[in-house]
Amino acid sequence: MRRKSCVFLLTLIAGLVMTGCSKQEVPTDAVVESSVAVEETVEVESSIETESTVVAEAEPEVDHSAEIEPVEGLSEDFVFGCDMSMLIAQENSGVVYYNEAGEEQDPLLTLANNGVDSIRIRIWNDPYDENGNGYGGGNNDTATAIAIGQRVTEHGMTAFIDYHYSDFWADPKKQMLPKAWVGMTTEELADAIYVFTKDSLGQILAAGVDVSMVQLGNEITNGMCGENNWTNICMMLKGGCQAVRELEEEYGKEIQIVMHFANPHTADYQKLAMRLEKNEVDYDIFATSYYPFWNGTLENMQSVLQGIVDNYGKKVMVAEISYPYTFEDGDNNQNSLYENCGSPFNYEISEQGQAEAVRDCVEALAAIGDAAVGIFYWEPAWIPVPDDTGMTRSEIWEKYGSGWASSYASVYDPNDAGKYYGGSAWDNQALFDHEGNPLSSIQMFNMMKGE
Ligand code: CA
Repeated sequence: MRRKSCVFLLTLIAGLVMTGCSKQEVPTDAVVESSVAVEETVEVESSIETESTVVAEAEPEVDHSAEIEPVEGLSEDFVFGCDMSMLIAQENSGVVYYNEAGEEQDPLLTLANNGVDSIRIRIWNDPYDENGNGYGGGNNDTATAIAIGQRVTEHGMTAFIDYHYSDFWADPKKQMLPKAWVGMTTEELADAIYVFTKDSLGQILAAGVDVSMVQLGNEITNGMCGENNWTNICMMLKGGCQAVRELEEEYGKEIQIVMHFANPHTADYQKLAMRLEKNEVDYDIFATSYYPFWNGTLENMQSVLQGIVDNYGKKVMVAEISYPYTFEDGDNNQNSLYENCGSPFNYEISEQGQAEAVRDCVEALAAIGDAAVGIFYWEPAWIPVPDDTGMTRSEIWEKYGSGWASSYASVYDPNDAGKYYGGSAWDNQALFDHEGNPLSSIQMFNMMKGE
């Protein structure tokens, strides 16, 4: 058991004994079990002796025991990764992460020790307002990517760079042009993408970051840079491809080019690969987001990716996956997933459920064979920022960009960030608990490898 949780548990139990708190007010199942034991014993024993006895007995009962079987048939090169783009903003906000022994530790090292091979890092062109205030969501510009990437390299992992070609979040619902590119023609945009990618990725490589993959555009299922004509989109993508290939040569380094899409459960998903082929876009990996509670069955996802391998000769990958371990909200910014939110949950909401959801997806990928090259867990360390620093959480999100959006993003993204800016909607899907301790599910990567 993690030392910090142990102290936390002791504190809670002490509080329960002293206040006679009812079970209903206790936040977790694990503590509820302990509190029952305490309440029964407390009548005849002194509280201090009872606490130590109960905690010692309660330890094995705490449900931190995710366990899964190794995945057979995985390619030796299969990459287990995590997207850790929020990291610097989280740390600036005062978030502290611990290792399994309860000691403060770089979460990148904790992930590396648990079998993670690669870290994905998103990049926005200019996520700042005219006064230099960050839009939030990690304020992920090239400098931030370098700061994360250097630590990733130090810990022996590779970096997977994810260009959104926007100043803020790009996904199937929005693909806003960077401010500096408004009014450009398609040809000008293709050139702007070439110049930006060459400069940004050039800086990252020059800083010594071990980049293995570069993604051009994020979840571009319905378009990119405000464009939805695929001939034009492909022309722009080719600008990015050219930049990566030139840097590959310059640095004598093999870099895989990734195209990334979302919503594999929707019709005509394979047509995306057809359009790329028809327009002769030079890339290596067709990647999809696959969120088990949003994106249909595993069988469908597997069949779609298998089709892309068979028909277009590409490698395939799941670039984003996650699963909740709790329905508790750690920062009062409503989570994307909550009880009765309407999404189907085919696994238990627990650390075990998290590990199983990811393992089943990896097994589905393994069945595709060597062409399936990896999976990345999305934002496993985006946990609540502290609320005991003299600043409110809202003030911290605004100042350090650790919420999904700050109010400063309102002018650029008035309809989404402008209305709903705030904190983390993902804290219940992390692989660290709300206090920064690694969950048992973080061991899933090594478990799947059979290590
Ligand atoms: Ca939350």
